[in-house]
Amino acid sequence: MHELSIAQNIVEIVEHYVPEPARSDVRSVRVRVGGLSGIVPESLEFSFSAIVAGTPLGSARLNIERVPAICRCEDCSMEFEAADFVFACPGCGGMHTRLISGSDLHVVDIELEEVPVQGP
Ligand SMILES: [Zn+2]
Repeated sequence: MHELSIAQNIVEIVEHYVPEPARSDVRSVRVRVGGLSGIVPESLEFSFSAIVAGTPLGSARLNIERVPAICRCEDCSMEFEAADFVFACPGCGGMHTRLISGSDLHVVDIELEEVPVQGP
């Protein structure tokens, strides 16, 4: 259960940034998942809700954005989207390419419920 430990990490990040009294105000947690991270979004969402159920974070939803994996060619410096683990450069056909993003996961932001501002 790869996603379960990742969801656990996300919960720990949220707990690190949001002090306990504010945790029940957390509405959504936005994460960016790289296309080659091997993470199944549905599975990650399910794991996250299972972990936060019954905790102050119980009403938080996980908002997953998928980002493409980007490679850069060492020979001609072209950047391109890697698909299906084919990393040959479409510009020069070279194989000296390096994955520069898309194999990881980041917590982008944590959205709290807005406290209504009282007018004068
Ligand atoms: Zn190239």
